[in-house]
Amino acid sequence: MTENISAGGDFLVREYTCRDIFTPEDFTDEHKQIARTTEQFVESEIRPINAAIEAKDFTLLRQKLADCAELGLMMIDAPEEFGGLALDKATSMLVMEKMACAGNFGLTYMCHTGIGMLPLVYYGTREQQERYLGRLIRAEMIGAYCLTEPDSGSDALGAKATAMLSADGTHYILNGTKQFITNSGFADIFTVFAKVDKVHFTAFLVERSMAGLSFGPEEKKMGLHGSSTRQVILDNVKVPVENVLGEIGKGHKIAFNVLNVGRFKLGALCVGQKKFALAEAARYANERRQFGVRIGSFGAIREKLADVTALTFASEAVVYRLAGMIDARLATLDKNVAGYYVEYQKGIEEYAAECALAKVFCTEAAALAIDEMLQVHGGYGYMAEYPIEQLYRDERVQRIYEGTNEINRLILSGLLLRKIPARQSIKAPLSGSSGRFAAEQRLLNEMKGNYLSFAEKTIGTFGDKAADEQEILLTLADMAIEIFALESALLRAEKACGQISENKQRLYRAVTSLCSFRAKQQFCAAAEKCAAFLGGAQPESILSLTYEARDFLAAKKLIADAAGQAEKYIF
Ligand SMILES: Cc1cc2nc3c(=O)[nH]c(=O)nc-3n(C[C@H](O)[C@H](O)[C@H](O)COP(=O)(O)OP(=O)(O)OC[C@H]3O[C@@H](n4cnc5c(N)ncnc54)[C@H](O)[C@@H]3O)c2cc1C
Repeated sequence: MTENISAGGDFLVREYTCRDIFTPEDFTDEHKQIARTTEQFVESEIRPINAAIEAKDFTLLRQKLADCAELGLMMIDAPEEFGGLALDKATSMLVMEKMACAGNFGLTYMCHTGIGMLPLVYYGTREQQERYLGRLIRAEMIGAYCLTEPDSGSDALGAKATAMLSADGTHYILNGTKQFITNSGFADIFTVFAKVDKVHFTAFLVERSMAGLSFGPEEKKMGLHGSSTRQVILDNVKVPVENVLGEIGKGHKIAFNVLNVGRFKLGALCVGQKKFALAEAARYANERRQFGVRIGSFGAIREKLADVTALTFASEAVVYRLAGMIDARLATLDKNVAGYYVEYQKGIEEYAAECALAKVFCTEAAALAIDEMLQVHGGYGYMAEYPIEQLYRDERVQRIYEGTNEINRLILSGLLLRKIPARQSIKAPLSGSSGRFAAEQRLLNEMKGNYLSFAEKTIGTFGDKAADEQEILLTLADMAIEIFALESALLRAEKACGQISENKQRLYRAVTSLCSFRAKQQFCAAAEKCAAFLGGAQPESILSLTYEARDFLAAKKLIADAAGQAEKYIF
């Protein structure tokens, strides 16, 4: 648990110490135990049947979902009174991360326990929860989430599906088509969004057995072959009024709040994917020989292993810091008070910008990492025989669903601009620092100062119309993402170094150097673009944004050696 509660967006204006953030170094024995259980389940039960899952053996998939439920892995986010465990978000993310090695079983699990089940957990009445939650936790029922339509994806509130109250007032009649619905081939309960009287956007719990519900054929997809994706067609489906979820006209709250957690869970899945890809590539690099030596001895290959290790370190720091932020906030709530989940939702909504940020950073880092780890495999990486091929195909959609990365950037920029009351100066270096990472912290503070100047200039130039300047908002989002990621990595390394031997500290110093160098490059590219968009000369502050990465080459070699020897992610 982190010591201080942080408000959403605070990271741009506040000074943090490593005690303020939760990191993987804070995992308890209970966290580690549930992670091990998940790993063992995936290794022994799911990896051996990956080919069958890829071939859409949904009967087998459902059987494995039931086995997974028996281990308690569906209970994590559900309340105790209905058989759940109501564990913290750190546990939830850790299990999600470990599911990354489970191929499309992992996606099915993510959809079921996330956007499938959470609408009911957060917004269901007691009666609805009694009716469905136990069965969802035991995987006797599988959940799906129906927001997207053929003509409304990003513009989710532009949905055309309708819900009209019957003359006798006992049920709503739903009509419409939902597009690209994950788990739809075998799910039993669907959270469907439709407009009451064509106006009031509302969520409904629709059972598979309800007359008038049908499904399009399985989509032929680039990847995710083992995941079911179909249209869900509603043709005069009679849904009892008892199945309205939440309030009439408040469906947007459900849709978007649940997506906050969905984005965050996807970020955790991406952390696991990077670790998986890295281990596959490191092993391959040790086996494959060219020019009479292991390809893992070439600097070109070693650099990739080092860079992907650093990207994974930063992604992991982002995801678990955010888990800690949310957990700290939720821990202040009293579970026994009526309206607990209303406050709970507000607690998560507070960090909507950070959830979007984690989604963008982690999915894009995964794309880069998986691409590079495939490259290590050469031509063999293109062959289905190697797991990296599937990972490469499956990864692409992560930048599209749970809100496209453009939409998530716009969301996070809009939220952050609203949260910054006025420009605040950031002092350097951060107080509480031991000075171990003084250069990196100076860089971070300069990045924050720069971001605030650009944000101020954007608001000054465009005022209320700033939200229309998407090109600028995207660059501001990129800057904010780099700030959060670098700060998370830095504070994590600071915390770890206080607990470990000098030898291990060298690894943390090296990875911090890699993270800082990359963050500076990315930040400067975004800042230069933003300055050009805003017109005028490039501000002095960007030009003076320096970071001298000491022993940079040695740092890369150190990380690469450690990853190569361990044949896995080393932190
Ligand atoms: C495999 C898969 C599984 C899915 N599972 C589910 C599911 O279970 N449930 C569900 O409800 N949905 C699901 N989806 C749908 C997914 O969430 C949408 O595809 C996504 O939200 C994007 O919508 P779209 O495809 O209609 O693209 P569009 O919204 O048409 O976007 C096209 C392009 O325009 C950009 N764009 C759109 N609007 C704006 C804007 N205002 N400003 C700037 N740029 C914009 C987008 O970023 C994108 O680059 C799934 C999709 C896939 C591919």
